Amino acid sequence: MAATKTGIAVIGGGAAGPVGAGGGAPGGGPGPLYDAMPSLGRKFLMAGRGGLNLTHSEEIEAFLGRYREASGRLRPAIEAFPAQSLRGWAEGLGEETLVGSSGRVFPRSWKASPLLRAWLRRLGGLGIRLALRHRWTGWSATGDLLFETPEGRATVPAPAATILALGGASWPRLGADGSWVPVLASAGIEVAPIRPSNAGLRISWSEIFARRFAGRPLKRIAISCGGETRRGEAMITETGMEGGTVYALSAAVRAQLDRAGEAILHLDLRPDLSEAALAAALSRPRARQSLSTWLRKTAGLAPVAIGLLREGTEPLPAEAPVLARRIKALPLRAEGTAWIERAISTAGGVRFCELDADFMLRKRPGTFLAGEMIDWDAPTGGYLLQACFATGAAAGRGALRHLSHGLSGGAGVDGAPIRSHL
Ligand SMILES: Cc1cc2nc3c(=O)[nH]c(=O)nc-3n(C[C@H](O)[C@H](O)[C@H](O)COP(=O)(O)OP(=O)(O)OC[C@H]3O[C@@H](n4cnc5c(N)ncnc54)[C@H](O)[C@@H]3O)c2cc1C
Repeated sequence: MAATKTGIAVIGGGAAGPVGAGGGAPGGGPGPLYDAMPSLGRKFLMAGRGGLNLTHSEEIEAFLGRYREASGRLRPAIEAFPAQSLRGWAEGLGEETLVGSSGRVFPRSWKASPLLRAWLRRLGGLGIRLALRHRWTGWSATGDLLFETPEGRATVPAPAATILALGGASWPRLGADGSWVPVLASAGIEVAPIRPSNAGLRISWSEIFARRFAGRPLKRIAISCGGETRRGEAMITETGMEGGTVYALSAAVRAQLDRAGEAILHLDLRPDLSEAALAAALSRPRARQSLSTWLRKTAGLAPVAIGLLREGTEPLPAEAPVLARRIKALPLRAEGTAWIERAISTAGGVRFCELDADFMLRKRPGTFLAGEMIDWDAPTGGYLLQACFATGAAAGRGALRHLSHGLSGGAGVDGAPIRSHL
């Protein structure tokens, strides 16, 4: 179990860790891959449930823009391991990829399990030993790695390099539960608070609306928050709203929640119609039709959209232009985001100021970080896995450089031959 002083230990076997593990150590065998859970890649498998969105096909500048303020720090890693490399990796494991109509990239099987199986076989072939049910709890005073195992506490002599890829904290039952935060914080490492991202909104619906419409999709809508607008679909839930369009506004919603304790969103229930055209349609007499029938026929609204419009705003404005404005910009008040247990990902994590260009902790030379535990955030669309893979590969390269040069600082050291399984 022990890693030698020339080895690399990788802790965290989700998406990013196994990528970093592929390098191995020159002069020593490939380091072990530790994970707290009884099996690897549980969140990766969960990501495959609704179609594994590996990455996105858009051009690199637009792609990098998705990471907002973190894009500059992620750029070298993603340029070194872009979407095309991730697709090549999947194809090398026998899973051809396809580009969906939205530009998202999926394995042809849509699933994660065939990829994960092939990946684990490849790691086994590289001689990478798995140490499962090993929960890393920190460092000893001399830098040894401390673990909790079913057999009790275990101490692993300090390896020459360690890659931590412990994930964020969403869906904690899949392994990544953020328990590393106090460990790193007590080592003096700055960690931005971990928050739900790509999470549903919490909205207090009336009981009657929630009962009637929870589980119903809102199709072809646009949602705006903080000057950003996204078009697509959303799903009404008992406690609010979820779906890709909502998730894409995560950062804007978080900013408003931080500032005001609530976020005001505006829903456009007919984004394909101008307000003037809608007002003209709504000027038609209602005659003896019920309000719902009239709204369905004149404004083309589905029952769930009509329910939303009427939710809390009865009676509806009688003047066509005012009603048209309401349909085009229906205000919604979100009291928060869904709980972390249900979020697709988390924002926050180890701040970039703690990391050098090789993703090595400046305060702990020889320890490299990868994946969602670093302070970046991105919308769904394949950007999450892409950044996990790219930072995993970058941390692996950094760890190899660190070993081959015997340096305590990896930044700016170039030219070391990199062995990689990708
Ligand atoms: C429902 C769902 C759907 C998703 N769909 C997509 C998608 O389609 N496309 C996309 O790009 N992203 C998707 N994601 C997000 C993506 O799965 C994650 O961003 C990605 O898995 C994060 O990789 P990671 O390696 O950083 O962390 P993880 O995959 O969470 O892996 C972390 C690993 O570290 C281990 N660990 C944690 N703490 C310790 C410790 N102290 N000691 C030892 N081991 C520890 C955990 O057991 C775990 O195996 C989805 C997420 C969810 C929840």
